[in-house]
Amino acid sequence: MIKFKNERQIEGIRRSCRLLASVLDAAEALIVAGAVPREIDAAVQSMIEDAGGRPAFLGYHGFPASLCFSVNAAVIHGIPGDTPLAEGDIVSMDCGIELEGFFSDSARTIAVGRVPEEIRTLMKTAEESLYLGIEAARPGNRLKDISRAIYDHNHARGYGLVRPYGGHGVGLALHEDPHISNFIGRGPNPRLKPGMVIAIEPMVNLGGDDIIVLDDDWTVVTADSSVSVHYEHTVAITPEGPEILTAGRNFHA
Ligand code: MG
Ligand code: MG
Repeated sequence: MIKFKNERQIEGIRRSCRLLASVLDAAEALIVAGAVPREIDAAVQSMIEDAGGRPAFLGYHGFPASLCFSVNAAVIHGIPGDTPLAEGDIVSMDCGIELEGFFSDSARTIAVGRVPEEIRTLMKTAEESLYLGIEAARPGNRLKDISRAIYDHNHARGYGLVRPYGGHGVGLALHEDPHISNFIGRGPNPRLKPGMVIAIEPMVNLGGDDIIVLDDDWTVVTADSSVSVHYEHTVAITPEGPEILTAGRNFHA
């Protein structure tokens, strides 16, 4: 069941999202060759807790970190470890915060140093598709208008899209209804209405659609080992249209 949020609740979610955007801005600055993912995770946890928040991913179904840290062929749910980042790595950082009972969720992909043009194009296209999906998140449209906008933009480039995972309602919990596929499949297609707060999150592969889960039972990787990228914002649907709640310093839509 979709939980509609009132103005007071949206304001609370907005505060949680603002904190998350500032934490991701700070974390992004730590993504350099030689940086140790586990230390970036610790820094993120401190930033969240110092601001009075709680890392929403830490302990969620047993997840061991505050930050999902997915490198290169890892799509999502990577565990920040001890292997230092290297020039050319592609890092997807996904984080969620609970602040005063309100939840936020956002992800970004960052290149470590110089990366090949085809990776730059993948990153640009996938990020564009996030904003096309957000643009479709307005009253009068339906849920699958978001899915279609994301799918079409990436599929036109020949990229793979990850089927089993997608966006979701968010705000009073980390994951709420509805599921927002990055495919246009079967299933419910509700009309979008003011008061909905959703996380929109394309996961886009340079190669095919298929993914597998590693033996750590968390890390989702592309089956063909191709590079994958991930962009996510928490968005409130208002009578005037979408409001991006997790826009950070480098916001340029
Ligand atoms: Mg997320
Ligand atoms: Mg999410």
